Amino acid sequence: MIIVVSGPGGVGKGTIVDALVRRDPRLWLSRSWTTRDRRPSESEDAYVFTTPEEFEQRISDGRFLEWTEFLGNYYGTPTPEAGDDRDLVLEIEVDGAQQVKRIAPDTMLIFVLPPSRAEQERRLRGRGDLDHKVLARLKKAEEEEPIGRELADHLVVNDDLESTIDEMLAIIDDARQG
Ligand code: 5GP
Repeated sequence: MIIVVSGPGGVGKGTIVDALVRRDPRLWLSRSWTTRDRRPSESEDAYVFTTPEEFEQRISDGRFLEWTEFLGNYYGTPTPEAGDDRDLVLEIEVDGAQQVKRIAPDTMLIFVLPPSRAEQERRLRGRGDLDHKVLARLKKAEEEEPIGRELADHLVVNDDLESTIDEMLAIIDDARQG
């Protein structure tokens, strides 16, 4: 099973997916490639941080499951190696989510919403991004939200982190039963 977790910036997706894979040993998290700079607050393995040239080479080699451009940088999911029988978790934006759904129609998309715009903005600013980047991300989030709502199999509002994680683990378990 492929589980895509998507949602606007500042909604807490990263924290959520880390918790999901820690709590459920039958899940594994794909590590994306990106050409954006690493934030000081970010660990070195948050992404494979790479150059546009290397990224484009990998596109030509056909070694991405999906990729997109987001606010001036490339982001992509490396094609997963066969043979892992755990369920795959992808934390990606809506364009990538659409691509994965096209390739694998059984993909389950969980779209995470912020409790409010104000809270989302507070979380985005808390990451230490520059002002113009925060504003660009908020604008992007407004564009993404209606697409995500339309595309989603499940909508989850991340108000309280623990309840969000419990709710998502339950959704994943239900899908396994079905
Ligand atoms: P950030 O710069 O905040 O880490 O990520 C920006 C956006 O890109 C987020 O919505 C994140 O979910 C998304 N993203 C991260 N990795 C990938 C990926 O491999 N593919 C796609 N399509 N989006 C990604």
